[in-house]
Amino acid sequence: MIIVMRLQATPDEVQKVEQEIESIGLRPFINPGVERKVIAVLGEVDVHKADLAEHFSMMAGVERVELISQLWKLTSRSYHPEDTIVDVAGVKIGGKQLTITAGPCSVENEQQTLEVAEAVKSAGAHLFRGGAFKPRTSPYSFQGLGEEGLKILAKAREKTGLPIITEVMDTHEVELVAKYADILQVGTRNMQNYALLKKVGATGQPVLLKRGLGSKVRDLLMSAEYIMAEGNNKVILCERGITTFEDSCRNTTDINAIPVLKNWTHLPVMVDPSHATGDWRYVGPIALAAVAAGADGLLIEVHNDPSRALSDGPQSLKPKRFAELMGQISKIAEVVNRQCGTGS
Ligand code: PEP
Ligand code: MN
Repeated sequence: MIIVMRLQATPDEVQKVEQEIESIGLRPFINPGVERKVIAVLGEVDVHKADLAEHFSMMAGVERVELISQLWKLTSRSYHPEDTIVDVAGVKIGGKQLTITAGPCSVENEQQTLEVAEAVKSAGAHLFRGGAFKPRTSPYSFQGLGEEGLKILAKAREKTGLPIITEVMDTHEVELVAKYADILQVGTRNMQNYALLKKVGATGQPVLLKRGLGSKVRDLLMSAEYIMAEGNNKVILCERGITTFEDSCRNTTDINAIPVLKNWTHLPVMVDPSHATGDWRYVGPIALAAVAAGADGLLIEVHNDPSRALSDGPQSLKPKRFAELMGQISKIAEVVNRQCGTGS
């Protein structure tokens, strides 16, 4: 349930509504910093929702009460009609400017990481990505460098000025990863790890939440709701391809999800064409399609020597190809009234 206050509602009227919500054992959640106050009522509202709606609609300062049938509230457009812009050390994700994140799948060593970081920076990327804790399908594959990898990422940030995004896989490692990362990535395999979602939510740091392999768009939003319910509104969603019967590519990019998400939620939406296709030859076309469909940013894997990469080499672009793609992205961005200026 969402309570929309009148534009002229006084702080006292807003407070009375909040107190009333609390007095019946529910949780008010107010959207800060906007002119019109909208209060989300969280908790098991469903029991007497029609009565409750009538009760609140009669309170002073209330314009209307909306019963939201979905189970996500804070992530919904009705609660927060304006686009959320997540500010990561000055990089604004979700505004007119597209945000391009690039870097290797894994941090393999200092030289490889710094080389790729410099290359993507000079091609105009805004954020640098790299995995230190890697979720690998086989336990015998490279598992990442752990904290050593995080330290290398911090060096890359120091050298290039690009904020860094890296994955956290385990609740026990949230504190450690949060010490180094500007954005905490929750990967596909952990989209429904609710303990992890709550923990990253509680850090208050920006979180990039990737869609689960077999998850519906609505499931993605409910996972984002876990993070937001911890008081963290710095959530970025990421479409990275889903499992379907089609096996020509590693996954199938759900292009539909982009406009659907932009309609259902105020959160920024990124697309990862690298994991979505699994093949560097298709990364460019899908990146451009994603921008044309309204994505707020992209996550692209780039490696200086893909044939020797310790993970995801086949889908990694070489720096030169990435730089060419950046030029094409700028052109498509213009058509859809977005900008893709360089990160520097
Ligand atoms: C990644 O970004 O390196 C990654 C493992 O992604 P996903 O969780 O989408 O598979
Ligand atoms: Mn990868």
